[in-house]
Amino acid sequence: MAERYARIIIDISHEKVDRTFDYRIPERLCEDVAVGSLVLIPFGRGNAMRKGYVVGIASHADYDRDKIKEIAGIVTDGVTAESLLVSLAWWLKEQYGSTMNQALKTVLPVKQKIKPKEKKVLRCLLQKKDLLTALQEAEKKKYKARVRLFQAFLDNPLIPYEIAVNQMNLSSATLKPVIEKGYVSLESEEVYRNPIKLEATGKSRVLLNKGQQAIVEEFRRDYSAHIRKTYLIHGVTGSGKTEVYMELIDRVIEDGKQVIVLIPEIALTYQTVMRFYGRFGNRVSIINSRLSAGERYDQFERARNGDIDIMIGPRSALFTPFSRLGLILIDEEHEGAYKSEVVPRYHAREVAEKRASMQDASLVLGSATPSLEAYTKALRGEYQLFRLTERAKKDSRLAAVSVVDLRQELKEGNKSIFSRPLKALMEDRLAKKEQIMLFINRRGYANFVSCRSCGEAIRCPHCDVTLTLHNNSRLVCHYCGHSVPMPDRCPACSSPYIANFGVGTQKIELMTKKMFPSARVLRMDLDTTKKKGGHEEILTAFSEGEADILIGTQMIVKGHDFPNVTLVGVLAADLSLNTPDYRSAERTFQLLTQAAGRAGRDFKHGDVIIQTYSPEHYGIVTAASQDYESFYNQEMAFRRLMKYPPANVLFTVQFSSREEKLLTHGSDAAAAFIMPQAEQERVQIIGPVEASVYKINDIYRKILYLKHENYDILIKIRDQIDGFSETHPELFDQIMIQYDFS
Ligand code: ADP
Ligand code: ZN
Ligand code: ZN
Repeated sequence: MAERYARIIIDISHEKVDRTFDYRIPERLCEDVAVGSLVLIPFGRGNAMRKGYVVGIASHADYDRDKIKEIAGIVTDGVTAESLLVSLAWWLKEQYGSTMNQALKTVLPVKQKIKPKEKKVLRCLLQKKDLLTALQEAEKKKYKARVRLFQAFLDNPLIPYEIAVNQMNLSSATLKPVIEKGYVSLESEEVYRNPIKLEATGKSRVLLNKGQQAIVEEFRRDYSAHIRKTYLIHGVTGSGKTEVYMELIDRVIEDGKQVIVLIPEIALTYQTVMRFYGRFGNRVSIINSRLSAGERYDQFERARNGDIDIMIGPRSALFTPFSRLGLILIDEEHEGAYKSEVVPRYHAREVAEKRASMQDASLVLGSATPSLEAYTKALRGEYQLFRLTERAKKDSRLAAVSVVDLRQELKEGNKSIFSRPLKALMEDRLAKKEQIMLFINRRGYANFVSCRSCGEAIRCPHCDVTLTLHNNSRLVCHYCGHSVPMPDRCPACSSPYIANFGVGTQKIELMTKKMFPSARVLRMDLDTTKKKGGHEEILTAFSEGEADILIGTQMIVKGHDFPNVTLVGVLAADLSLNTPDYRSAERTFQLLTQAAGRAGRDFKHGDVIIQTYSPEHYGIVTAASQDYESFYNQEMAFRRLMKYPPANVLFTVQFSSREEKLLTHGSDAAAAFIMPQAEQERVQIIGPVEASVYKINDIYRKILYLKHENYDILIKIRDQIDGFSETHPELFDQIMIQYDFS
């Protein structure tokens, strides 16, 4: 039999955590040693027995065959969640370039056990009949908060106090009288920690339609036949993806397995959470970024102890210590929030694939607008693709979308931010007492220059992304450093109406109030949602009809259902179209599709108006016709032409330092060092160039971009940079290097 070797890291409390040691796997253990096993090994000169985690298995060793030692035994039967996560950390470190310590901090929950805050729960003491009476009475008196509470009790007799306060926006002033009246009791900790008996009401079960059923059946067949793979559900908003997820979860927990559900934080609303509680009761736990380290640790403990089967949360829920993981679900798979902004800069989709393969679990991705990465894999047959093309609810149709050319508006003398068609529809809806959302699809920091006459934004001739305005005087490309002075006329049509494109939500609120003085207006942006729960508070107020118009950024298009919204206005689609990022068209398509999904959720007819200076741009045309395929084909052609992902792998190296001169020196030297290898392998190199924001907190940052279709070749280059920086401390002692693959 061929020899097998295990790559092992010694006990994670050990300082030698950043390297592995090779050991031979004795024949008697061959069956049992796997990636993720915790093993006993003789270590060091004295051969003291230590514990080690297996992070890889190979058929050869990087060490002298005669001197190599053997694994002495296995510590625990089977693979524990912790040792699996340690191997996953090793993979993160290798894959994304970080230290093992950083990777371990990412996968293992904070160790220190903080005393949990007292947990409380609201229990409904009324019988169903009395509850209905109380609900009617509250409705008559227009006690909106109380109505909300009673309606929730119809689904569930127990509601965690935290959810009531933070997600349902019930204040103690609302709760006090109903408690005093004996309708509701406030009970404490024990109830919550010996988990809540949220009865699975079964209410959320619907009769699946043909499309939904086909997915569920295929998944069940595969699952029973022990076929584990990745599925992508491409389903329009409201097509019933969540119902499908719940059926799949059912199948997997029936088998005694566990499930992780990732939902972007912004979409983790009370409504979503309650749907899962309603179906699975106390077997569900939820984490979000509002939890303290201790609370999060508690939830992970419950998972480790097997008290729960389903963990729902944002990116970090991926590291739930389930040892019997059977399924990972990623909803809104395309969301930018799935990419970590801190080292290791992992993408949840990639880590989920890895973790699923380690634990023999299935992976299901869902989106109305799949990422180009996922859809490309689905077309190649690496993922199995399912489509849901219609809304699940009868009579619920997608909204009618039309595009308005702002250049034409300007030509005909309309300088306001409201085009004539949008203004007319707004007046119509205000008269009908229906609601309106005005959407500003701004993402982060947009600082591009464009022409109001012809609609052109000024772009880099080499990279085909917009140039960024610096100090109101120069336009700079942050991919390649190309720079030109700010022109005073449009280079395309010579119009003088050329300027920095910037509209804030606040300014729009003012203009809206001026144009429609009798309308009640709410604004939602970072300013108005800073305080805890501010986000839910505004959405709740709007869904209860306390305003006619809601103005906001992409925050407003997620999660909540607003049956009375029949008009969505996208004020300037150009804002996301012209961000200096190769993904700008993809983001625009996603945002516009989501915005369109907001109008006419129920039975009323919905309209969407997209205002833009570039009505012929394929990102806008295809969003208006809701034609994902066509968008995908055109966008992929662009990515291939410019060698952007997913046509190529884009490897970004960021150098940062307080010492500007040293930074230039070091980054240039590193680039020069890898040049011969890069040329030989035909890797395209751009830079080092100054980052889009060059100096932050007195730290300067330079970026080197490398493009190639083969990931492994870029990994080789990364290792060269690592080696070079380690052997040249005089240059790199004061320079930090961070890697990113996309
Ligand atoms: P998505 O996750 O794709 O946006 P949801 O699962 O939230 O879609 O479904 C949208 C709405 O349609 C929900 O109110 C859901 O309860 C309802 N729904 C889903 N599937 C069905 C079905 N087969 N029959 C009736 N209603 C359904
Ligand atoms: Zn012009
Ligand atoms: Zn450029």
